[in-house]
Amino acid sequence: MIKISFVIPIFNEEESLLELVLGIEKTLKEDFKKYSWEVIFVNDGSTDKSFETLKKLRTKHHQIKIISFRRNLGKALALTEGFKKSSGDLVVTMDGDLQDSPKNLSKMVDKISQGFDLVVGWKENRQDPWDKTLPSRCFNFIVRTFSKVPLHDFNSGLKVMRAEVASEIKIYGAMHRFIPVLAARRGFRVTEIPVVHLPRKYGHSKYGWQRFFSGLFDFITVMFLGSFGHRPFHLFGFLGVLSLLIGTICEFYLTVLHFQGVQIYRRPLLIIGAIFILTGFQMLSIGLTAEMLLNRTDNKEGLPIEYETP
Ligand code: UDP
Ligand code: MG
Repeated sequence: MIKISFVIPIFNEEESLLELVLGIEKTLKEDFKKYSWEVIFVNDGSTDKSFETLKKLRTKHHQIKIISFRRNLGKALALTEGFKKSSGDLVVTMDGDLQDSPKNLSKMVDKISQGFDLVVGWKENRQDPWDKTLPSRCFNFIVRTFSKVPLHDFNSGLKVMRAEVASEIKIYGAMHRFIPVLAARRGFRVTEIPVVHLPRKYGHSKYGWQRFFSGLFDFITVMFLGSFGHRPFHLFGFLGVLSLLIGTICEFYLTVLHFQGVQIYRRPLLIIGAIFILTGFQMLSIGLTAEMLLNRTDNKEGLPIEYETP
């Protein structure tokens, strides 16, 4: 029997929880009769009654499992811990605020049967205020352009994936927004389908404009790790040599002038060249340090191996 694990991060969503559980239960009874399932709630340090409500719900609904953080650690770590605990063949992530409807699941799971590893629910008609939807469009455009993963909605909370995807990708900080990029990088087949999105019924959004800074830095990390994570010296070595070369040319030019009798101590280029040379050495040593760190870890663990004869 195929098992579905729901992983749902919860940060102050007490009013939504009962409806959420009933909604999931209804959908599973209607559309997934032959499946077994579990719902893993990860309480991300809620300060309202979410944790108590979850414990109460668990007494009646035995498919519920709860992980609780003492304090708020963010959605990405909540998902990571939920993934670790999940035992299903399929893992479904959903927001806990009732904005994602479980009714979308059957067509998403169909896509998985067609051979995809991760299906993202594209909130085509996103039910959020414009100050969320507009920046989100820009964000998606940037991520789509740089990552070359052709999706419309990277940050959708609603995703269905094979268990391998959930167990292989490592996310923290605000990296939950890049799950499709990380999965595609590891050779998983990623796709999307439009889903119904609902307006927030209770509580309020947990994210403001600050998300764009964390999103940006995490995107740089994701892109860097994807391109040079396994060979950092290729980047730092290149930058280091380039910088050394520029610095050496500057200083060589001034040396020639010096021998022609020009006083060079007042030339800004003297300092500029020196800075380039120092930066060059620094880049080279950062690159080598990174290689040393990589060498000390078991590299193989991180490789996207799909098949190996025993
Ligand atoms: N969430 C979380 N930890 C956080 C922020 C949010 O677990 O630090 C959860 C939140 O409870 C919800 C989901 O992540 O289930 C999405 O959050 P929200 O609805 O606030 O995001 P939005 O839909 O506004 O992008
Ligand atoms: Mg929401």
